Amino acid sequence: MSFDYDLFVIGGGSGGVRAARIAAAEGGARVGLAEESRMGGTCVIRGCVPKKLMVNASGFGKTLEDAAAFGWQVKAEAFDWPMFRTKLEAELDRLEAAYRNTLKNAGVIIHDTRAVVLDPHTVRLATGESLTAKHILIATGGWPHVPEGPGSDLAVTSNEMFHLDALPKRVLVVGGGYIASEFACILRGFGVDVTMYYRGAQILRGFDDEARTHVAAAMQANGITIRLHTEAARMERTPDAIRVTATDGHVQDFDLVLCATGRRPNTAGLGLEALGVHLGKLGEIIVDEWSQTSVPSIYAVGDVTNRVNLTPVAIREGHAFADTVFRAVPSKADHAMVASAVFTQPELGAVGMTEEEGKARGGVEIYATTFRPMKTLFAGRPDRVLMKLVVDEATRQVLGCHIVGPEADEMIQLAAIAVKMGATKEDFDRTVAVHPTMAEELVTMRKPVRRHGAV
Ligand code: NDP
Repeated sequence: MSFDYDLFVIGGGSGGVRAARIAAAEGGARVGLAEESRMGGTCVIRGCVPKKLMVNASGFGKTLEDAAAFGWQVKAEAFDWPMFRTKLEAELDRLEAAYRNTLKNAGVIIHDTRAVVLDPHTVRLATGESLTAKHILIATGGWPHVPEGPGSDLAVTSNEMFHLDALPKRVLVVGGGYIASEFACILRGFGVDVTMYYRGAQILRGFDDEARTHVAAAMQANGITIRLHTEAARMERTPDAIRVTATDGHVQDFDLVLCATGRRPNTAGLGLEALGVHLGKLGEIIVDEWSQTSVPSIYAVGDVTNRVNLTPVAIREGHAFADTVFRAVPSKADHAMVASAVFTQPELGAVGMTEEEGKARGGVEIYATTFRPMKTLFAGRPDRVLMKLVVDEATRQVLGCHIVGPEADEMIQLAAIAVKMGATKEDFDRTVAVHPTMAEELVTMRKPVRRHGAV
């Protein structure tokens, strides 16, 4: 049977674009790709990239204050949000164009429209056109999930945060995950009055307890109000605010409510269930280690599979799929020991086992230190950095590394190489410090602060 394409990709985000490019440019495949929104997906258009630029913009307030403490005669005037937003939009246009060019240069045919799956080898575009393909890759990502409740339609999601007409004065952030914590810090850096409602005992669930407590304390010291064990029970519009009643009865007015309560895989209306593609409870596509679904010609990568929802992981999955299917190089994405950073202020970088996981497993030593880094100490700030290692008592292998502080993102990327390689605590210790740096503390922690014996 002859097909219009060897591969049809639905979704032009990180995973889909990588798979399409490798299949076409290196696998010689005839590839079509449909994207209903802007090319680049969540990461480029409404996620990592604009977020990181906002983190950078937001951090300059403190940097200018620090510069003054170092003797520079500078003064931070008010932040010009419209000016920043215009530049941000131009940058996203540039990146989107770069993504398109990359695909075009690889020979991928782009369809700027929505596509759904009709049968195991056919997709139908919103234009009415049907196209056949030997393989179909679903890379449609995720979408913010807002729990329904009275007035919940008054809240915005992270999607809208990059397009605000003006910076609000008072913001409520609902949720305590990556997105909630990052936006709370970004907005606070811009001078916004920020309150967080988080339903659990501490924000950033899943990260090392000591690390997330350290981040939360620093956020509070920066002026963010964090109300734990609290949810928004009701929201209503008043003439000049959104009035929020919390589950503990507290009532407060805000100009903007950001709901950052998780994301859901984007599978609704794609026609997958009717074909026998197995979906999980949240609508995620169930795939095997080769990213193949229960229908052999259909594969899925990235957030739509709800495995490890991070851009670089989606890229690995897309690449491995293209290598396996179109280059005869069987490859699996490796989901173990994936490092990540939360771009809070201060940042949190983490790879591997937390102390709590180590305690449950038993037989670990904990090395940890907190200190005031030279730069902020000189500037007169109370900020403290946390460095922490979880070490296997028997093998001496470093099982986890957790860093809270400025540039924790850059530090954890490098530490993750050693941890991924299986470096021991003694390997860290044999590495001579680079002085004076923050990261040198990773190789100078001599004595464990705690031991969790075998269980
Ligand atoms: P997360 O899963 O990180 O956080 C969701 C938050 O919302 C949690 O605090 C959760 O609470 C809370 N929540 C969930 N449902 C409800 C509810 N019904 N009512 C009240 N609170 C609720 O999701 P995000 O949306 O922040 O981010 C999505 C994913 O995107 C992340 O998991 C991450 O994989 C990725 N991401 C990565 C970034 C990075 O690498 N820097 C940045 C941004 C996103 P609880 O903890 O109790 O479940």
